[in-house]
Amino acid sequence: MTEPVFALNDVDYTYRDHPALAGLSLTVNSGERIVLIGPNGSGKSTLLRLLSGLTFAASGAAQAFGAPLTEARFEEEEAHYGFRRRVGLVFQNPDIQLFNPTVFDEIAFGPLQLGWDKPRIRAAIEEQLERFELTHLKDRAPHRLSGGEKKRVALASVLITEPDVLLLDEPTAALDPQSRDKLVHFLAGHLGDGRTVITATHDLDILTAISTRAVVMAGGHVVGDGPVHDILHDTDLLRRARLTHSHV
Ligand code: ADP
Ligand code: MG
Repeated sequence: MTEPVFALNDVDYTYRDHPALAGLSLTVNSGERIVLIGPNGSGKSTLLRLLSGLTFAASGAAQAFGAPLTEARFEEEEAHYGFRRRVGLVFQNPDIQLFNPTVFDEIAFGPLQLGWDKPRIRAAIEEQLERFELTHLKDRAPHRLSGGEKKRVALASVLITEPDVLLLDEPTAALDPQSRDKLVHFLAGHLGDGRTVITATHDLDILTAISTRAVVMAGGHVVGDGPVHDILHDTDLLRRARLTHSHV
């Protein structure tokens, strides 16, 4: 048995006086492909922020890679650095993720932070540009891209450093149907073998194309957990979580 990638036990998180996670327990094993489903406000984005070390549990126990996922530990720079390298988050809104002057610089940012040498960075960028069909856009400013292109840049800039874990927050939300289909195609083909992937989504195609396990959230905790196909047929569970297929 290898240790779980994430182990959360009875975790709470509150924004000022607004509870977002309440008594949440979840174990994620290496290589799992998980979708997080649940109504708006059920805590999916907050959970992804917690798993990526952007916020920390107010109470309960949270571990990542066998070590505590706490603010105190993150203050030790090395722990922070190691964790950041292992977990990548693609935000729902790409405009808060993309801040470099060009697509090329955006994708180069992570490897530069890690101190890779120039030839290695160049080769890795070429590979990502090709993989996500961005080569013709490499000198473009990210804010001048379409929604779908921005998502592909965000994905490339996270995947280039090969994180063990990829977290995706509603990757197809707000995309037009054509960009959405294209992104689903990229997600299905380029998530990487063996990588742990957790995706918050309402998109039925993503559920079935890139995941095997579905975790259902409501009221800041997990109310259902199982194989995607079982969960999708559990109408009673979906109703209790205030989800219908059109929601999912
Ligand atoms: P989901 O992603 O499932 O829609 P969120 O994690 O965004 O859910 O939100 C969980 C709860 O926390 C909701 O009730 C939401 O209103 C609240 N919340 C989210 N972000 C903030 C914030 N920055 N400040 C205050 N409350 C927030
Ligand atoms: Mg959300």
